Amino acid sequence: MARIIIEKGKRGRMHIESDLMGESLVSKELLHKTESNEYFRMHPEVNVMKIGGQSIIDRGAKAVLPIIDVLVQAKEKHKLILMTGGGTRARHVYNIGIELGMPTGVLSKLGDKVSWQNAEMMSVLLAKHGGVKIGHGDNLEQLTMFCQLGYLPITYAVPPYGFFEHPAEFGSIPPHRTDCGAFLLAENIGARSLIFLKDEKGLFSRDPKKVKKSEMKNLTFYDRISAKKLLEMDLDDLIIERPILKLLQRSKCLKELQIVDALRHPEYILAALDGNHVGTIIYKE
Ligand code: ADP
Ligand code: MG
Repeated sequence: MARIIIEKGKRGRMHIESDLMGESLVSKELLHKTESNEYFRMHPEVNVMKIGGQSIIDRGAKAVLPIIDVLVQAKEKHKLILMTGGGTRARHVYNIGIELGMPTGVLSKLGDKVSWQNAEMMSVLLAKHGGVKIGHGDNLEQLTMFCQLGYLPITYAVPPYGFFEHPAEFGSIPPHRTDCGAFLLAENIGARSLIFLKDEKGLFSRDPKKVKKSEMKNLTFYDRISAKKLLEMDLDDLIIERPILKLLQRSKCLKELQIVDALRHPEYILAALDGNHVGTIIYKE
């Protein structure tokens, strides 16, 4: 039971007795002591799936509808939450904001509405199959319940940094966008898996869209690589947002994530949910 202790002396502080009493919560030694061997997982059966804004949704019906069909099948077998990316409209507003010299936090606030619009579209398309759009509030504690009742919860993947976004390493584009949001939710709810639906087979040594067809054979494909190794390689461009590499190295629950080509192979969604390796797996070393 907690005891209230008053420090001796005239200007004594009032404490509630605990291991953290009187600590600044900055000491490395203290923080190490708070490490746990096993963290509590709130939604251990829920799979977090992020559908790309630029890579999938912006391609319209041709790309989206086959994925919707697979998601309807997948939700009968697996518990899942769908999170939406932003894409071209977010890039447009970033571009105007950058020209106007807007700070990162403003750009973050401008871009988040696009991810929200995409969540709205996905939830309309999935409504008759039990798709239900949720926010970032109390509904996130209810994910398992939604899935057990046959719903498919859908939310925007942009994390709620806004004016609290961290400064970018280079330039001003908010570093934590929708890939990071999906990662952070998956980690904090103790999700079963994290799957990114994109338009490439996975991670290459360079962006395949910026390489001539004749040069494609010179690219290396990574089907399985650790976040640590990828950080060391320091590639100029990546298929997922860069901060994820550091976050994954620090993660407490999530051990890996998979990126799949849901554009050419919507069926990979089910395969990945079934635990198959069909794209690039990035893991915590
Ligand atoms: P999303 O809309 O899902 O967020 P993005 O368009 O932001 O997707 O990022 C995915 C894109 O990243 C791919 O379509 C690919 O063109 C590009 N890309 C950049 N670097 C790489 C790389 N090293 N390997 C594979 N794809 C890459
Ligand atoms: Mg992206």
